[in-house]
Amino acid sequence: MASERITGPDWQDEDQTEGSLRPRLLREYIGQDKVKEQVQILLEAAKGRSEALDHVLLYGPPGLGKTSLAIILAAEMGANLRMTSGPAIEHGGDLASLLTTLEAGDILFIDEIHRMSRAIEERLYSAMEDFALDLMIGKGPSARSVRLNLPHFTVVGATTRLGSLAAPLRDRFGAIYRLDYYDPAALGMIINRSAKILRVPIEATGTEEIASRARGTPRIANRLLRRVRDYAQVRADGNITRPVAQDALAALEIDELGLDLLDRRYMLAIIEKFNGGPVGVETLAATLSEASETIEDVMEPFLLHLGFIARTTRGRIATRNAYHHLGLPPKEDLGGLWGVQLPTI
Ligand code: ADP
Repeated sequence: MASERITGPDWQDEDQTEGSLRPRLLREYIGQDKVKEQVQILLEAAKGRSEALDHVLLYGPPGLGKTSLAIILAAEMGANLRMTSGPAIEHGGDLASLLTTLEAGDILFIDEIHRMSRAIEERLYSAMEDFALDLMIGKGPSARSVRLNLPHFTVVGATTRLGSLAAPLRDRFGAIYRLDYYDPAALGMIINRSAKILRVPIEATGTEEIASRARGTPRIANRLLRRVRDYAQVRADGNITRPVAQDALAALEIDELGLDLLDRRYMLAIIEKFNGGPVGVETLAATLSEASETIEDVMEPFLLHLGFIARTTRGRIATRNAYHHLGLPPKEDLGGLWGVQLPTI
């Protein structure tokens, strides 16, 4: 399954030690400078007014630090944090029991907020706006609606798909921040910080090597660090140098850009089976025996970021960069896509 890929950005069992690596305060949160600056202002303004924080929506691919930022918001505000996720709130009662136990200023973190049902979504956004919840008491003809006032709380929502969020819900968020892939320098700092916490000896060149293959994603950087640490311990003297990192990552079949076998199969399918595209995502999913959501939410964002594929209305296209990376002669008629530049990740 794709979610078990070493380079998969979704949370996996082996990430259990993530807790110890999580930044707890804004100053420990590395990179995302623009977002951090805006968050700082948001925090200071709310604290200055002694008010609850405005509702915040965080979006971007998995593993980039949305949950970490939510935890930091609560810590910086000195607020209690309740954590849940869109799919976990199944019934109106689930939402009511969450909301009615909140205190003023508390933060309710809802991961995968785009996966809430429409009915729950509607109730949530009216609660976010009016700080009140309409509850139905009783059943049948004697049922009546009671309005419960709620304290001023803050919703911090996280999503990988901003487009799947209903507009009225999106509009209830006072601040919307997009997290982007990290550059190798920021990833290097994250790796060094984690290495210090895990007490792993690492050389600057070892850090560089892991950073350049971590797909711009802190969760993957930390996971690769743990894997390379194991390799260094068993096959070398425990110290992570560039050659040790290179050998360890080659053994894991992760190439110099962080792409793995599944990425290569995906690009080869477009190129060899569908003549470079365009090909629809459902067809690709069937060809690769992967769920189309995995392809869209997990694999494609990074390949798009690298400029290896393009999304068109007729489907996915492999760009010249993809051909080049795979060592294949490019297709003749790529037209406008010939000019796609390789980003510096
Ligand atoms: P998301 O919620 O977006 O999937 P997380 O917040 O769970 O991502 O981040 C995954 C892991 O990556 C965290 O446990 C943390 O160790 C690391 N991480 C994420 N963002 C940062 C950051 N800005 N600085 C340092 N470590 C980070």
